[in-house]
Amino acid sequence: MPVSEYDAIVVGASFGGLAVARQLRGRVLLLDRNEVGAVQTSACGTPLWVPQALGVADSVLQVHDRLTVRTPERSVIYDLSAVPFCTFDYRAFCQGLLAQCQVRFLRTAVTGMADGVVRTGEGRFAAPVIVDCSGWRGAVINDGDPTQPRARTYSFGLETKAELSDEGLSFWLDRELIRRGLGWVFPVGRGSLIGLGSYVGVSKLKPPLERFLAAQGVAPTTYHGTYFPNRLLRATVGTVFAVGDAAGQCLPLTAEGIRPAIYFGGECGKLVQRVLDGALPLPQALAHYHGLVERYRWAYRVLGLAQWITVHAPTRWFAAFAALATRPPFLPRWWPRYGWFGRVEPVAVSTPT
Ligand SMILES: Cc1cc2nc3c(=O)[nH]c(=O)nc-3n(C[C@H](O)[C@H](O)[C@H](O)COP(=O)(O)OP(=O)(O)OC[C@H]3O[C@@H](n4cnc5c(N)ncnc54)[C@H](O)[C@@H]3O)c2cc1C
Repeated sequence: MPVSEYDAIVVGASFGGLAVARQLRGRVLLLDRNEVGAVQTSACGTPLWVPQALGVADSVLQVHDRLTVRTPERSVIYDLSAVPFCTFDYRAFCQGLLAQCQVRFLRTAVTGMADGVVRTGEGRFAAPVIVDCSGWRGAVINDGDPTQPRARTYSFGLETKAELSDEGLSFWLDRELIRRGLGWVFPVGRGSLIGLGSYVGVSKLKPPLERFLAAQGVAPTTYHGTYFPNRLLRATVGTVFAVGDAAGQCLPLTAEGIRPAIYFGGECGKLVQRVLDGALPLPQALAHYHGLVERYRWAYRVLGLAQWITVHAPTRWFAAFAALATRPPFLPRWWPRYGWFGRVEPVAVSTPT
């Protein structure tokens, strides 16, 4: 079978893949097994500045300036107004980013890669630059042999939409509900996304989630869920760039994976474009990207430690710590620092005519 040649191939057209692709010009192929924005896995909670900076603010469903952390002992309210959060519509967000891309999108499943040739259901494609943004499975970097989700590396989340109008974002830490994980209620305009996440990758979450829903007095609709990493993995594998969950960039503890995928994806895309322009050799671009991601390893370690404490400490200790973190001088110090992570100056991206 003949091989079609491109300048660059991006696998996965969700947060990471679209963040890479919108930086690229040239003969670029963007592959995904689903239509863009069709299959949502995330609760789509992120700082409000993210969709605003990306020019997709019209995808925002609800803005949140407070977060409640609930434990059986007490509830703690965080004032997020210094960096408000939002929940957004996944399809509108992704379609908005796709409209900013000057690439060829092809819907097909990638089955692996060898010697710079990507195998798909629609044939074989080659490019000097390949970026794997296919989520936790890493379809390219694992050559179609999916990662086995190991308990100490992958969390699992399951959620459903329900008719619940809560006061704002909330997390629930209750060992009766889920032993090594937490629950969440993310209002999305009409109704809320309600879910449970296991930090140790337990995937049978439907029965406890149904109990959680029953306690809120609401019924489930459709469920969606998947694994996501809670440990920083490899940013480059051979000559392939990895972005987002494929590189383990989802943040431990808070399970925020959208922002890191978009931030590292954007930076990766800029480096790849310099390679395509002939301004930077590929090995140097790989080294730059690897170095950029490694600069954040300490932050991932800190959040990983906080996740470990959350899992293992008695919930009353966690509640006391969570309460302390809402108070001055602590909150004004750590919240903006955390909330602005990943912000880069907006880059002018021209839309195709
Ligand atoms: C239930 C749940 C709720 C979450 N809530 C939040 C939240 O509120 N906020 C937050 O920041 N993070 C949240 N996360 C984490 C976040 O969803 C992920 O970290 C984020 O989606 C990672 O983005 P990504 O682009 O790397 O991968 P993904 O979003 O997983 O995208 C991977 C893309 O690759 C495609 N793909 C996969 N395999 C192949 C293949 N073989 N061939 C072709 N295409 C392929 C997929 O179709 C998909 O489009 C949540 C996770 C879960 C499970």
